[in-house]
Amino acid sequence: MSSAAPLDTLADFPAIPAGWAYLDTAATAQKPQVVVEAITRAYGETYATVHRGVYQRSADMTVAYEAARRRVATFIGAGSPDECVFVRGATEGINLVAQCWAAQQLKAGDRIMLSMLEHHSNIVPWQMAAERVGAAIDVAPLTSDGRIDLDAMAAMLTERHKLVALAHVSNVLGSVLDVERAVSLAHGVGAKILIDGCQSVPRMPVDVTALGCDFYVFSAHKLYGPTGIGVLWGRPELLEAMPPWQGGGSMIDRVTFAKTTYAAPPGRFEAGTPHIVGALGLHAAIDYVDAIGLPAIHAHETALVAQARDGLGSLNSVRLLGPADSAGIVSFTVEGVHPHDIGTILDESRVAIRAGHHCAQPLMEALGVEATARASFGVYNGPADVDALVKGVERVTRIFG
Ligand code: PMP
Repeated sequence: MSSAAPLDTLADFPAIPAGWAYLDTAATAQKPQVVVEAITRAYGETYATVHRGVYQRSADMTVAYEAARRRVATFIGAGSPDECVFVRGATEGINLVAQCWAAQQLKAGDRIMLSMLEHHSNIVPWQMAAERVGAAIDVAPLTSDGRIDLDAMAAMLTERHKLVALAHVSNVLGSVLDVERAVSLAHGVGAKILIDGCQSVPRMPVDVTALGCDFYVFSAHKLYGPTGIGVLWGRPELLEAMPPWQGGGSMIDRVTFAKTTYAAPPGRFEAGTPHIVGALGLHAAIDYVDAIGLPAIHAHETALVAQARDGLGSLNSVRLLGPADSAGIVSFTVEGVHPHDIGTILDESRVAIRAGHHCAQPLMEALGVEATARASFGVYNGPADVDALVKGVERVTRIFG
């Protein structure tokens, strides 16, 4: 059995009591004290609005808010902070592209390529966009071990495809996409490509410039930061050409009743008072994660996945889903037991997992299951959590055996 790399961060997380195995980080990560403190300090000591204030406190807050954007840019390898739009989360980022970019670029007869393992938030916005203009959606199948089948996708892509949108890491299976290859296939037919980085950004180094994609989205709350804020990164020339999304304060250049002109990106896409404190919390989260190092986090989670797959795989009635080298996420079923019952029984042993369709109903159908049980790891987990998981699932098999 492999042992986890020595990450010892549990004490940084005030909301994880001793003996509680929190294995639902793919849904949302717990927050380190430094993030809690950054948020408390922002509301309790330094709070003011941004961008409009003429007084010092507001000017200072504006500097802090824009410093958060710069931190995001260096963290994901963006060419400039102006390429990073603050949104409510990945869902909003994808909807923004679907409404602003796709509304302008897609026409009847065009096609969008998705994959069978996408989260609903990387399916439904494209269906809505496609329906509006009469475009069609194609779905790349999966390999037998649960990766997006890029060979099959290559054979399906045509010059009618204007957009490819894929998850970097599956929130159900943990399978990791070969983004560079997906980018080259998309660009080979002249399509743009959006990558849903919700599950990759917390788990592996991401450099959007090196990956070569056109749009990249992620949510702060899965990266140990606050809810209600996320990032849409876009190539500057694409953002520049996109019309605004919501109208209101901050997104304008000049307003008259005769005509309004719009601000340049990213401000054009940030109408209204932003989630100021959320941005500061995200900044603290990135500092926290970067200090540990994403290569170390990746190694740590890879070891936990290996341990979990070994332990669960040794139980007769357990079916493991997804590839052996999945990133931080292990989905499984137990023969004859509904995943909700697995989750409820594990909770009695103080092991918190997710059970359900994980907002990926088409994937459930492709796997031939109604739901799965999913354990997902974070920096605070250790081998003892995996032991508790395996013991708990053993108990499930005894109860239902
Ligand atoms: N994509 C993936 C792969 C996800 O895991 C999630 C969250 N479960 C989302 C998109 C949506 O993220 P959010 O709800 O934070 O907008």
